[in-house]
Amino acid sequence: MRKLGFWAAILALPACIAAAQPLPDLGGGGDAGLAPQVERRIGESIMRDIRFRDPAYLDDPEIADYLSVLGARLTQNAAGVRMDFEFFAMRDHTINAFALPGGFVGVHTGLISAAESESELAAVLAHEVAHVTQRHISRMLGQQQQMQLPVLAAIAAAILLGRSRPDLAAGGIAAAQAGAISTQLSYSREYEREADRIGFQALDAAGFDVRAMASFFEKLQRGMRVADDGTVPGYLRTHPVTTERIADAQNRAATVPYKQHLDTPEFQLVRAKLRAESGDERDAVEYFHGLVRDKRYASEAAARYGLVAALLRARRAKDADAELARMRAAGASGPMVELLAARVKQAAGDRPGAVTILADAHLRHPHSRPLLYAHAEALHEAGRSEQSLSLLSEAVRTYPKDARLHQLQAKTYAALGKRLLQHQAQAEVYVLQGSLPAAIEQLQLARAAGDGDFYELSVVDARLKELRNQHAQEMKDAKR
Ligand SMILES: [Zn+2]
Repeated sequence: MRKLGFWAAILALPACIAAAQPLPDLGGGGDAGLAPQVERRIGESIMRDIRFRDPAYLDDPEIADYLSVLGARLTQNAAGVRMDFEFFAMRDHTINAFALPGGFVGVHTGLISAAESESELAAVLAHEVAHVTQRHISRMLGQQQQMQLPVLAAIAAAILLGRSRPDLAAGGIAAAQAGAISTQLSYSREYEREADRIGFQALDAAGFDVRAMASFFEKLQRGMRVADDGTVPGYLRTHPVTTERIADAQNRAATVPYKQHLDTPEFQLVRAKLRAESGDERDAVEYFHGLVRDKRYASEAAARYGLVAALLRARRAKDADAELARMRAAGASGPMVELLAARVKQAAGDRPGAVTILADAHLRHPHSRPLLYAHAEALHEAGRSEQSLSLLSEAVRTYPKDARLHQLQAKTYAALGKRLLQHQAQAEVYVLQGSLPAAIEQLQLARAAGDGDFYELSVVDARLKELRNQHAQEMKDAKR
């Protein structure tokens, strides 16, 4: 249960009230947007809050990887996009998605479950991505330039998340300031129109079924009418769906020749995984048993995948193992399937078996990050920590910005009692999460650990000096 507080009170304002306020002129009169690095820092600050304080944050590399691949298809085709996007999921049954400053896009699991095709999900993501690429958020916040960064972050969180987040208020004064203006700020009609238009183009260029935009908007509008608890769903509060928006989306779709889009197998697997992991585990097993028995599925492979995942969750490793062969016979394949098979072996106590599956799958899918993480972890758990570490250091060279890799390094070093290396790796995690003071603290711990050689210590010293300078520069920038 989330507490109702200050933010909840603000966020609970119905969309119609917010819309009735005179909207600030957000479109015209020069580009008053924030500098990209300020935008990124605001986004990182909200992300830290979400990662560490919001229990709904779904720390699942497979779901995040799926959303990132889907998102990349949309951003690759967007003209002039030069920004790192990061997609992540929130376990929340409401239908919502939101874009934060700096390219962070959150997706509620309720949206993934409600989408009946991959194109519907892509339509909502394309709209969110467009808010970012058209710098709507940046321009909305840019009007508040006299504000301190924590206040901007609180405002951005209040407007964009569409969630009750009382804990996000950055102190009382910041909260009061943010509260005073946040009701005036919501995406204007102009911004919504533009995000729909640009999002539609991205959807089309990426080869999705463009009719999905109108059909999903209609579904959202219907959903709004039947909401029985009297609340307006988050997405509709931040992006009011109007008859006009639906008609525009339909008109646009009519100008494009019909294109069939086949959903990727991962779309169904991700939905099955989310279903298998929600609610009571015995109900989940029953649900998938029913699907398989009555053949009530869009994809047999995904239904059987869900059954294995649910059995595993219900601690029925033996039954799950027995179902693996049927899942594969139904055509289930790919990184998610291999990962699940390895988890089943692990649960059955067969650690070497898990390593074999993951090593093999990793060879066949060298670009799958979830497989890479699982392979490194399984090696460590099977007592092959040196191999795990060499796999990780090679991966860190390929993906230096992947915080999870540094986190796995830190964990493995910690288990081996290598304290300097542990804190050094942990420092890089914090750098990538935009928290320089925490990173500096880790490097100080690395220095004091007393188990490093001369070479290792000089590397730590050099990095410490570098981060201190960077931090001093940031403090100077913030005061300007
Ligand atoms: Zn919008």
